[in-house]
Amino acid sequence: MFVWPDNYENSWTLSKTVGRVGIGLHSGKESEVLLGPSEECGFYVSWLDSDCNLPLKIGSHQVRHSQLCTSLHLGGRNLSTVEHLLAALAGCGLTHVEIKVKGDEIPLLDGSALCWIEAINEAGLRAVSSSRSPQLKLEKPLTCYRKNSVISATPADEFNLVGVIDFPQKAIGHQIYSIQLTPERFINEIAPARTFGFLEQLDYLKQKGLIKGGGLDNALVCDDDHWINPPLRFPDEPVRHKLLDLIGDLALVGFPKAQVLVYRGSHALHTDLANALAANTSLT
Ligand SMILES: [Zn+2]
Repeated sequence: MFVWPDNYENSWTLSKTVGRVGIGLHSGKESEVLLGPSEECGFYVSWLDSDCNLPLKIGSHQVRHSQLCTSLHLGGRNLSTVEHLLAALAGCGLTHVEIKVKGDEIPLLDGSALCWIEAINEAGLRAVSSSRSPQLKLEKPLTCYRKNSVISATPADEFNLVGVIDFPQKAIGHQIYSIQLTPERFINEIAPARTFGFLEQLDYLKQKGLIKGGGLDNALVCDDDHWINPPLRFPDEPVRHKLLDLIGDLALVGFPKAQVLVYRGSHALHTDLANALAANTSLT
C-alpha cells in the first residue's frame, strides 16, 4: 500500500501525470486539470488552452476575488476555486507540482479534496533532490480580523490548526475542531469534508450568476435545522471543511510553524493571514 509522507519536512513531487475533468462551481463549465511532476520547488500553473503557457509559480499576492472561493490572477487571466486542490497538494506533503489547466476554474468534483487525494494516490509520490521552501517561522504573533471574524497565528514547533464556526442555523450551530496537521491526518480527517451552503441563499446566488455548477452532489445544503442531502461524512463536517479551505489558502505561502486559530473564517480572512505570514516570517 502507498505510504504518505510522515510530516512536512521533505520535498515531494508526483511520480507521473494524472488528470481530472469536472464542472466548475461558479462557471458551471467543464474544465480539465493535469497534475504532474516538477523539479522546481513550488506549485506552477500553465494553460492547456493558450499559446502563452509558461508555467507561473503561484503565491498569495495573486489572490483576487475571495468572496465565495479563492481566485488567482495569473498572467492576464483568472483561475478560480483553487483552494481544495491546493489543500490536497500541500496537505499530502507535495512541494513540487506542475498544474496544467484547460478552463478558468478548478473543477469542484465532490466538493471536498477527496477526489484530488485519489488522483495524487494514483500518480504516487517520489522524493525530489532539490530542497523545499523552508517552513515559515513566525517572528511575532499575528492577528487579522474582519468585523467579528478573527484569525491568529502564534509561534509553535508544528503546524497546528484550531477552527471555530458559529452559525445561527441549528443543523450547524457551534463547532470546533483542532488538529496537529500531518499528511495522514489531513487525508483522513480533513480532505473528505465537503463544502456547504444554505438553501435560502441558493436562488439568490444563482440569480447573480454565481454557483452555476453547484448542486446536491457537490455541496451539503443546509435548511436551518436539517440537511437537504444527508448523510454527513462527519458530524462536524462543516468546521472540518472550513479548515480544508484555510489549509488551501495557506498553501499559497507554505505551512508556518505556528498554531493558527480561526473564528468564523473566510477566504478573504485566510488570505489576510497568508499575506501577513509572507511579510512577517523568517525561513527556517
Ligand atoms: Zn471550500
